[in-house]
Amino acid sequence: MKLALAGIGKIALDQHLPALEASADWDLAATVSRHGRIEGVEAFPRIEAMLEARPEIGAVSLCLPPVPRFEAAQAVLRAGRHLMLEKPPGATLAEVHVLRDLAQAHGVTIFATWHSRMALAVAAAKRWLADRTVQEGRITWREDLRKWHPGQDWILDAGGMGVFDPGINALSILTEILPARVHLKAAELDIPANRQAPIAARLALSHNIAADFDFRQQGPQTWDMEFQTDAGPLALRMGGNVLEIDGRPAGGEASIMGEYPALYARMADLVRRGASDLDLSPMVLVADAFLLGRRTLVEPFDF
Ligand code: NAP
Repeated sequence: MKLALAGIGKIALDQHLPALEASADWDLAATVSRHGRIEGVEAFPRIEAMLEARPEIGAVSLCLPPVPRFEAAQAVLRAGRHLMLEKPPGATLAEVHVLRDLAQAHGVTIFATWHSRMALAVAAAKRWLADRTVQEGRITWREDLRKWHPGQDWILDAGGMGVFDPGINALSILTEILPARVHLKAAELDIPANRQAPIAARLALSHNIAADFDFRQQGPQTWDMEFQTDAGPLALRMGGNVLEIDGRPAGGEASIMGEYPALYARMADLVRRGASDLDLSPMVLVADAFLLGRRTLVEPFDF
């Protein structure tokens, strides 16, 4: 199946391109980006031009930041093409509801991806937790903004989500593996004095789960989730790729390279079955953190 990739920036080049090159399902037939290009692939600066010129391209994968993504997403669906969305699926929940309705009206697939749910140990953790009770949990998601998002000013602007851009990955795993629905009880947001979005956040969630997200981490990076259950402890480390049960290794490996191939395989499966996958539960937790969060202004941040 032919697919166009839009928003040729960091994640498109780091993950989408290698996953598409290795995919037996997808043929990368065009790109849409104002500056980005992929050698040997026809490039369009505007999505409308690509949709008009290449009617045989049946699916579009959008890697733009969340704020500019909505206009492009609407254009794709209105043109009757299947749509795959990078996380988070939109800048607001209401936008994504509009996209869901548009996809339904046009009879096409919409897939809101959560790449961390494809991490190697997530499915095993979900199976293990299925018939256990989580008594408490601690999520620590601390990474260096300058290392992973060099120069990406949009991430700390309104709608960029700030530290929730990586933090929503942890919440996408949490909402996938927990047998019960989880909700936010309180939040603290640290916002740099010269920016609009939080650079750090601490969340109190139901089931005695606490989350600590920080974009100012230097040295070792941490993407850990630890749970105490009625049957002992379970931990997911390396962003959901490594599993520990009772403090001992129980599967997975420290690599994220399987996540995007799994997303494209799932997209192919959804298209073939005429199905969609649009779970907004991680984004609801983030939206609620912005609704309930106590804000503190902290030191200005510059790249
Ligand atoms: P990025 O490199 O800053 O942006 C991707 C591309 O979007 C840019 O190169 C730019 O290409 C295009 N774009 C269009 N309108 C834009 C605007 N108003 N502001 C900035 N760029 C605009 O971002 P990214 O890191 O690839 O992230 C894109 C999405 O993927 C985000 O939703 C992010 O959460 C998600 N994601 C990122 C990572 C990661 O590690 N970076 C990991 C997983 C998911 P042109 O200038 O050529 O149009």
